[in-house]
Amino acid sequence: MILQELSEAVGVSGKEDAVRKLILNAIDGHADQIRIDPMGSITAVKPGKGKAKNRPRIMLSAHMDEVGFMVTGFDGDGSLHFINIGGIDERILPGLRVKVGESGIPGVIIWTPIHRNRDQNAVKLGSLRIDIGASDKGEVNGKVKLGDRIAFDSQYMEIGATMLRGKAFDDRVGCSLLVDILQGGPYPVDVLAAFTVQEEIGLRGARVAAQALKPDVALALEGTTANDIPNPLAEPDDEDEPNPACRLGDGPVLTVMDRSLIVNPKLLGFLKQTAEKHKIPYQLKTQLGGGTDAGAIHTTTVGVTSGVISVPCRYIHSPTAYLNRDDYANTLKLVQAILKDLTWEGLGRD
Ligand SMILES: [Zn+2]
Repeated sequence: MILQELSEAVGVSGKEDAVRKLILNAIDGHADQIRIDPMGSITAVKPGKGKAKNRPRIMLSAHMDEVGFMVTGFDGDGSLHFINIGGIDERILPGLRVKVGESGIPGVIIWTPIHRNRDQNAVKLGSLRIDIGASDKGEVNGKVKLGDRIAFDSQYMEIGATMLRGKAFDDRVGCSLLVDILQGGPYPVDVLAAFTVQEEIGLRGARVAAQALKPDVALALEGTTANDIPNPLAEPDDEDEPNPACRLGDGPVLTVMDRSLIVNPKLLGFLKQTAEKHKIPYQLKTQLGGGTDAGAIHTTTVGVTSGVISVPCRYIHSPTAYLNRDDYANTLKLVQAILKDLTWEGLGRD
């Protein structure tokens, strides 16, 4: 598992280079036809073993990019203007540590000081600045350029026996799983791997990768929102239970429907049956928020039967996410079982 290295690498959408490099090294020798497409996604093929004709070509995709920010301007006092890349809740930003540009210049997100802005609810990204410790614009010059990406500055760590903490588990956990899958096998089916770019800003890399790979079936491997903690905004007398989309420790998450996709019922049935057959716990996700690469993939070429398998993660799209090691292991086990058991008949097709 190379989750730690992947989590520590910076790959804000459109600038996934560091992540791509790690993955290329890790899959070297474990797949054929390793290519970087013009958008920057990695595609690779791991041919199935055996002589079976007409075996399903299954695409597994995981996105390399993460949400972050981009430098859009400079103030005379040396602070940086920035915008978000991907969905980020502005309320979590003031005070956060960040890394700016390829050299990872340390900075902190500031906002209008409290004695000039008493309305605590009015945190707007446009009023935030990043302080990199420069005393004026001249000092920033040459160090930071317009368009430089900015990433959360956070540390990966293992907590106790089961918990992992780190940045960008959405979707470095999917990338790490896909690397493990390619390093394992071979499988009876052709595995078409895609490590995609620019998912967080509109599922862009996956669309192109799917058009090139022309899969029959596709699964997006994701890190998805676990909502299994109390809602901090709930009123004290609000007795509503949290309504979890999924929980840490309850196993891989199979999407039924999200904003980008309704999973093919036959494929979903096959995924559930496979989990049950191999005694792997799983949970279903029906909440509508968000989309995944599968949302783009399933409408490419002549249509691709698509699903999503996710590892539940707390606090995605923030500096620090948590996931459970057992969920990781069970997700890997489930995907590998699917690759072994997948047949046209299983999908209800001839
Ligand atoms: Zn994602």
